[in-house]
Amino acid sequence: MRNVFENNSPHAHFSWKNLGDIEEGRGDLGEEMPVLVYRLMQYTMLDVLSQSLGLEKANEFFRAAGHLAGTEYAKNTLNLQLDFDGFLSGLQKSLKDLKIGILRMESFNADTGAILLTIGQDLDCSGLPVTYENVCVYDEGFLSGILETYTGRKCAVREVDCWASGDRVCRFEAVMTETPA
Ligand SMILES: [Zn+2]
Repeated sequence: MRNVFENNSPHAHFSWKNLGDIEEGRGDLGEEMPVLVYRLMQYTMLDVLSQSLGLEKANEFFRAAGHLAGTEYAKNTLNLQLDFDGFLSGLQKSLKDLKIGILRMESFNADTGAILLTIGQDLDCSGLPVTYENVCVYDEGFLSGILETYTGRKCAVREVDCWASGDRVCRFEAVMTETPA
């Protein structure tokens, strides 16, 4: 008999190929589905994790999952050989094609390594009730995973404005460091 406490499910360890052949498997229903379904998963997961671990810890897990997603997404779908402008426009196009959001770079400070990015029409939060909080912690991890994979350097990302905080776009401050990722 299999030990139920053994964590040996291949799906317990993320791999890009285990996302499967969506086109083949989904048949007539196709590759797309309403944002409602994504948010239903996201915010029920946040509820369950928050009840059990507290919001701060739940957000930590969301950020870590976002980081893993960003890392794998960058490795598997983005051209990492381009210069920064080329990379950024590839990322912009990909995020739009996947309907994650509309990415723009507001500023880049070459001295401090700080980048301000905005995402409009964001998948996670655009249209949420305004509760005066920044809710896009998964995106924080996602962007940091992408930037770290491209630069090979540690990059901390924090959301400073969000639809849920009353803004019309999400604004993220990314700070590159010299530390290897
Ligand atoms: Zn947001």
